Amino acid sequence: MENTHISENAHGSASPGPSRRAFVSASAVTATAAVAAPLALSTSPAYARPAGLGSALDAPTFDPALRQLLGQVDPNRIKATIQRLVQFGTRHTASSQTDPVRGIGAATAWVTQQMQDIAATSGGNMTVQQQTFVQPVSSAIPVPTTITNVIATLQGTASPERFYVITGHLDSRCSDVLDFTSDAPGADDDGSGVACVLELARLFATHQFPGTIVLATVAGEEQGLYGSSHMAAQMAAAGNDVQGMFSNDIIGASHSFDGHKPDPFTVRMFLEGIPTTATPNQISIMQSVGGENDGVSRQLGRFVVSVAPFDLTGMNIRTIWRRDRYLRGTDSLSFQRHGYPAARITEPRENFNHEHQNVRVENGVQFGDLIEFVDFDYVARVTRVNAAALWALAASPSTPKDLVIHTAPPAGLPGTNLSSLAWSANPETNVTGYEVVLRETTDDDWTGKIPVGNVTSVTLDISKDNVQMGVRAVDSQGNHSPVAFPTVVN
Ligand SMILES: [Zn+2]
Repeated sequence: MENTHISENAHGSASPGPSRRAFVSASAVTATAAVAAPLALSTSPAYARPAGLGSALDAPTFDPALRQLLGQVDPNRIKATIQRLVQFGTRHTASSQTDPVRGIGAATAWVTQQMQDIAATSGGNMTVQQQTFVQPVSSAIPVPTTITNVIATLQGTASPERFYVITGHLDSRCSDVLDFTSDAPGADDDGSGVACVLELARLFATHQFPGTIVLATVAGEEQGLYGSSHMAAQMAAAGNDVQGMFSNDIIGASHSFDGHKPDPFTVRMFLEGIPTTATPNQISIMQSVGGENDGVSRQLGRFVVSVAPFDLTGMNIRTIWRRDRYLRGTDSLSFQRHGYPAARITEPRENFNHEHQNVRVENGVQFGDLIEFVDFDYVARVTRVNAAALWALAASPSTPKDLVIHTAPPAGLPGTNLSSLAWSANPETNVTGYEVVLRETTDDDWTGKIPVGNVTSVTLDISKDNVQMGVRAVDSQGNHSPVAFPTVVN
C-alpha cells in the first residue's frame, strides 16, 4: 500500500508533501502566546487551534431502517417481560434448577424458549445456546452450582469473526447474598436488563449485519460475575474478536424516589480508562505518551455517543470516565478482563432501598426490587440507545487493527515532528478508505479528521507531541468504524 504524506494545512485533502509554511505559522502562534502572556495578559493573542486538527467531523446520518427499528421498541412488551420475570419469585443463583414455577431454573427455561421463538423468525441467521457450567465452591458459592447463560447469536455476513455483545443478568438476590429462598423479584436489577436483551433480540433477528451480534442473559452475576466470566473466557479461548460489549444492569428507573428530581432522559455509561488488562509495561508507555484517556473502552464510548444521540433515541448519554460505580462492578468487567472494549449502562441514580433488599415495609418505607418502581418508557429509551449503538457497530467497518505510531526519525535526522502511522487493512471489502482523527489532548472527544485514502500508512506534518491521533475506517456508505488508538514503535 502507498504511504501518503499529508501536511499540517491539509484541511482534509491529501497534499503531496510537507508544508513548511504551515508548520512555521502554527509554531509562531504558540511562541507568541508563550512570550507575551506573562507581560500583558489582557492583550496577548489567545491560543489558536492549529489548522492541523483537520476538518470538522461530519454530523452522522442514520439509516431509515434503524429509525424504523427504534420506533418498534415497545414499552408494553418490556413491561410484560419484567412482569413474567418477577413471577419466578426468586432468580437467585442457588435457587431451584428443577421447580417448574419458582427459581432460576424455571426462569432460564422461559428465557430460552423466548429466545428460540425469536430465533425462529430469523430465517436461520440467529441461533440460541444454553451455555451451562458448574461453578466450583468460591466466594458466595458455598456448594458447586450449575450456572446457565442463554446466548442468542446473529451471525455476521461480511466479517463474522468480529463480535458485539449485549448482556443483562438473569439472576437476582435479596439482603443476604446466600439467601436463595426469600423473594427476590429483581424487577430493576436486572429484569430491566433482561427485558432490554429480549427486545433487542426480537428487533434485530430479522436483519443482517456485516459483524456478528450476541444478545445474552448471563447468570451468577450477584455471586461474583460468574456467568459472564465464563462466557467471556469461552469467547477469548475461541479467539472471538469482541469489539464492543455492553452490560445493561439496573436500567429500569428514571426516578430514585429519594427526594431527588427524576431524570427520565439520562442514562449513565461507565467507561474505564486504563484497561484492566494493561501490563506494567503498557501502563508505563501510556504514561509516557499521554494515552491514559485513550483505552479501548473510552474509544467505544466515544463511538456510542456519536451514533446514539438524543435526536435518535430520546435519551441523553451521561458518559462517566470510571470503570463502574465506586468499588462496584458488573458483567462488563468480565469482558474487560480479556482486553475487550466494554461499558456498563445504568440508570441515573440508584435507590439502595430497592436493590439487594428483602421485600418488606419498615417504618412506612417500602424495601425491595419491585416492579412498581420500574419506568417501562425509560427502559425502552435505554433499549433504543443500545439498538442504535449495536446497529452502528455491526453495520460499520471494524476497528482498524495493529495501529502503530513510529517515533524513530527518518534516517540522518536527529529527531522529527512528523507523525508516521501504520495499520493493517480492514477485512471488509466495502471499506473505501481511512481517516486520521485528531483532538487537542484536553478535549474529551475527537474533533477533526483528515481523510488519507485507501492506504495502510501515512505520514503527517503534525507533531504527535501536541495532539491525540487515531485512525478509523470508512465504507462506501459513509459509515465509519470506532477509532483505533496507536501503540508506539521505534
Ligand atoms: Zn445487577
